[in-house]
Amino acid sequence: MLPFFTPDARLTLKVQTLMKFSHASFTLSAARLAGCPSDSLAEVAFAGRSNAGKSSAINALTGQSKLARISKTPGRTQLINFFSVADNHYLVDLPGYGFAKVPLKVKNQWQHELEQYLRKRQALSGLVLLSDIRHPIKEFDRTMIAWATQSELPVHVLLTKADKLKRGAANITLLKVRQELEPFPDATVQLFSIQQQQAIEELRRKVSDWLTVADEPAGLPTTD
Ligand code: GDP
Repeated sequence: MLPFFTPDARLTLKVQTLMKFSHASFTLSAARLAGCPSDSLAEVAFAGRSNAGKSSAINALTGQSKLARISKTPGRTQLINFFSVADNHYLVDLPGYGFAKVPLKVKNQWQHELEQYLRKRQALSGLVLLSDIRHPIKEFDRTMIAWATQSELPVHVLLTKADKLKRGAANITLLKVRQELEPFPDATVQLFSIQQQQAIEELRRKVSDWLTVADEPAGLPTTD
């Protein structure tokens, strides 16, 4: 029997999803899992310590300078922000963690919400975890990776602000983090800087693949 899609058609699908990142638009903010929009076809979430560069990365990915607000007030109400891309897909901006001044009770509540989201959100196809290359993979980043792994969710780590290090130092950190991620077969890592177009393209491909693969009917022949 002929395959449902030819390899060329698959490529076209991916390119279309890529291009539509530039049409991303804010949909809604939710204070907890219950307030999230009904499960979409597929969504990709972005998480990281506050100041890791999450808003900047979402803006770079979509080519929109103001989509995710770059300056936020530490400790303010933390919301899960949904941005729609293409048809019925979302990019999801999860609340930054790691604020030193947030009361323990608020911190615990937020960690609980993040865990619920990672464990229960059916449409979630992948987690982009951002970590500043100058102090990569802190304790709560590890917790996020563990939760994602338990939910069989692939994780892509961005070592952000890579332009702040010399190329050699950045590559050494990349190797160390890659080694640290070895126990997690579904985790990948890349160097990332909003100043490096190639790095932004690598992120676009990863997010696009996750959204596209989640759309494909079961049993579709793969070409990779
Ligand atoms: P968020 O709190 O994780 O959303 O982090 P932001 O996106 O607000 O970024 C925190 C700070 O890091 C801001 O001053 C950004 O301009 C800066 N920043 C983010 N990404 C990069 C990058 O790739 N290179 C450099 N040099 N600075 C960056």
